[in-house]
Amino acid sequence: MTEREKGLSRRSFIGKGIASIVGVGLGLSAAKDLKAAAGLAEEQQSTAPHAGKPAIMDYRDLGRTGWKVSDLGFGNAMIQDTALLEYAMERGINYVDTARQYYDMEIVIGKLFPAKRDKLFITTKLLPELFTGKTTAEEITAAIDESMQRLNTNYIDCVQVHSVGEDPKLSDAEKIKNPNVVTAFEKAKKDGKIRFWGASSHGPRMVEDFDWLLDNTSIDLIQPGMNFMTKGLEPVLAKARRKGVAVVAMKSLAAARKIDYKPFLTEGQTVRQAVIKWTLAQPDIDCVAITMRSAEMIDEFVAASGKPALSPDEKKALKGYGMLLDKDYCRPGCSGCLAACPHNVPIADILRYRLYFASYGEEKHAMSLYRKLPRATNAEACASCAAPCEGFCPHGLAIRSKLIEAHGELTV
Ligand code: SF4
Ligand code: SF4
Repeated sequence: MTEREKGLSRRSFIGKGIASIVGVGLGLSAAKDLKAAAGLAEEQQSTAPHAGKPAIMDYRDLGRTGWKVSDLGFGNAMIQDTALLEYAMERGINYVDTARQYYDMEIVIGKLFPAKRDKLFITTKLLPELFTGKTTAEEITAAIDESMQRLNTNYIDCVQVHSVGEDPKLSDAEKIKNPNVVTAFEKAKKDGKIRFWGASSHGPRMVEDFDWLLDNTSIDLIQPGMNFMTKGLEPVLAKARRKGVAVVAMKSLAAARKIDYKPFLTEGQTVRQAVIKWTLAQPDIDCVAITMRSAEMIDEFVAASGKPALSPDEKKALKGYGMLLDKDYCRPGCSGCLAACPHNVPIADILRYRLYFASYGEEKHAMSLYRKLPRATNAEACASCAAPCEGFCPHGLAIRSKLIEAHGELTV
């Protein structure tokens, strides 16, 4: 390992959050197994060999944009300097996923510009709360200008509406049906400020909102939360492909960041690689954007590039891992239980924040998202509720206890 890589390694987040994920929503013996698996993962990650660096092996057409992008894209909302991103670029990554909401990430990326501007396809997302049924085109233009300034660039490859398809009870679709959205993005394209525009979602109306955007607007890119445990998005992805709209998958690791499943795998493989390969093997995916927190993690993920076929070992690991998560993981795009809550608690959102807190090592981010919820609809109401929501979850999640736990963690 070079001195630079050692530095990158020291800045990694390995180890945070393992204790919290293992205890959440699992029986004692399953939790023990997970804890052991997590321990193995940590040991494996900290001693992994780094000779013979892996490199991106596949560059895919990004819809109709004309770009060929690495099959894996770089994300990291907590990035403090450019070192990790430069390391990812050395491995061949040329797609970067950021957002105005991701603290200083836009500013950090901007430090590489103008020198390396033409080496990267940058997609950023404007603040989710910017978009309502009443947002003006001028407000959207001002937000694009702000992101351009933060990114230290005179154009952005793609600007997205952040988080469409959220709580259906909030008539969220109004924000994408606001004609000022398309007007502002098309004008920004004409003015040369942006090349393309898109939308991201992991919300319960994800399928419906992407479908509407594909049918009714000039959208160029969609970024869905999807992984081996999600279902129902396939027709929308196929439609995007037919229309030449780029598809970038996110949340593809499910909760796999802190866990390995070594007993099922041959030496040198990880469950996270298997999960990534599953997503890369889906027919309508152009790129998988993943949070990369260390040089080791980049090497681990990049080693899965260009090899979407799963080995029998990996298939077994994926099955075992899926069973482990089955009753704990709230699937992006599912809205099964939401209408059953008399208090309009945004169940899927809170369970996602809980995942950020317990599994992604993004405690601060998770707490700040939770703080933004109106008090009347946060999970405080669950303490004295008979939990009618639970009867509607097709996966049998113990929603009430998970939300009570999340409330405790996210309000500390
Ligand atoms: S347990 Fe919580 S989320 Fe479920 S119905 Fe009651 S208040 Fe709503
Ligand atoms: S808790 Fe269950 S039913 Fe509710 S959104 Fe999540 S996966 Fe769907």
